[in-house]
Amino acid sequence: QLHLHEAMEAMPAGLEIYDEQDRLIVYNQHLAQMAPHIPVHEALGHTYEHLLRTSLANGAPPVPAEEQEAWIANMLAQRGLHTGPQVRYYPTGRWMQLHETRTPTGYIVCVRLDVTDHILQKQALDASRQEAQLARELLEDAIETLPEAFALYDQDDRLVACNSQFRAVYPLMTPLMRTGQSFEEMLRHGVLAGQFPEALGREDQWLSERMHEHHAAGLATMQQLPDQRWLRVHERRTRSGGIAGVRTDVTELVRKEQLLAAANAQLALLSTTDGLTGIGNRRHFDERLGNEWQRGARQQIPLSLLLVDIDHFKLYNDHYGHVAGDACLRQVAQALARCVRRADELAARYGGEEFVVLIRDTTRHEGETIAKDILDDVRNQKIEHKNSSISEYLTVSIGLTLYNGEEDVTYPEILKLADQALYLAKNEGRDRYQ
Ligand code: GH3
Ligand code: MG
Ligand code: MG
Repeated sequence: QLHLHEAMEAMPAGLEIYDEQDRLIVYNQHLAQMAPHIPVHEALGHTYEHLLRTSLANGAPPVPAEEQEAWIANMLAQRGLHTGPQVRYYPTGRWMQLHETRTPTGYIVCVRLDVTDHILQKQALDASRQEAQLARELLEDAIETLPEAFALYDQDDRLVACNSQFRAVYPLMTPLMRTGQSFEEMLRHGVLAGQFPEALGREDQWLSERMHEHHAAGLATMQQLPDQRWLRVHERRTRSGGIAGVRTDVTELVRKEQLLAAANAQLALLSTTDGLTGIGNRRHFDERLGNEWQRGARQQIPLSLLLVDIDHFKLYNDHYGHVAGDACLRQVAQALARCVRRADELAARYGGEEFVVLIRDTTRHEGETIAKDILDDVRNQKIEHKNSSISEYLTVSIGLTLYNGEEDVTYPEILKLADQALYLAKNEGRDRYQ
């Protein structure tokens, strides 16, 4: 009996035992300390009902006088019938867990455990859970108001949150856009689903490049989407080592840029092309002559300049009309274009019925050969010219200058020399070069 008593006192719990007539027969000191409002000292040998009544008289628990009988009846009705532990808050400010058990012989054993620390911990945990939930809702509300697509990844590169704009931008990846989903898995799924046209046919390489970009989280990059759409991708490291990414739809901007580039290319072409004949215009020629002259002077590369003028073109116009005259200009232009083969050679319309041909790196002999070819080519086209005094077909005269890179000759002078040569060719009977 002595040993049992010691064991009872050593228990880290309050203990009380009632006999089959529900009289308190034993309790330990823990109980007295835990529940100072329960008058166990005076209750030894008395019934549980007596204990309840004494407690009420002491004001614990504070039940109004008119409800006390009902309260006692309720407590007695439940006596020994609890199937699980009950948790109660005591006037001492502590939480107790009660285990009330009826033994096979009809005794009642009641064990009380102080669970205050456990309850407080749980309350703190609940509070921080609620706080975290509020913070998450705040984050979601905030990113939802962004006009741009946004996604946030943690330090393990797993999705923390994204907005509906983000889901709309990558519709083929939305099934995987769940909290905790890894970025790489999402991307792999997107590649397989055809979300990234740029990855087509080079999936593995594209993936590794994209992963590299993502982890570098530095410069903004462009990304193509199906339907010719374009995104600007902006990713940054967060303080906690995650990645925050913004996607801006720049399709309209890209489209405008492309249109502008095409318009600029068209403009550049127009600004250097002769509208009637489609070969280079005078502006283009002037520019090229200036450049070639400089280069010729610097590198001592000879340059052939041929000034080509249609013979008796006024008479042609007078007889065949202006429209036929235009067609004739186009034919001569084509003949000249056939003579220039390299990219750095140029045939251009100088004005009216005069043309120029500029050929680099030619000897005098080669220059003359080109002049002869042009004369032949025009003759061979057999453009009928009834009023010409020279031939029954259209002919041209050519003034040819060969520039050998002499430093004291300016490029307007080269032109002037060609003009003088042309004048000579006209005077000497036309249909020739000089
Ligand atoms: P020459 O053999 O001495 O060169 O005589 P020409 O009649 O060819 O020379 P002229 O300078 O007297 O006449 C040039 C003519 O070229 C006058 C003009 O009507 C014609 N012409 C100039 N530009 C165009 C054009 O764009 N279209 C047409 N159809 N004719 C043009
Ligand atoms: Mg002329
Ligand atoms: Mg002429």
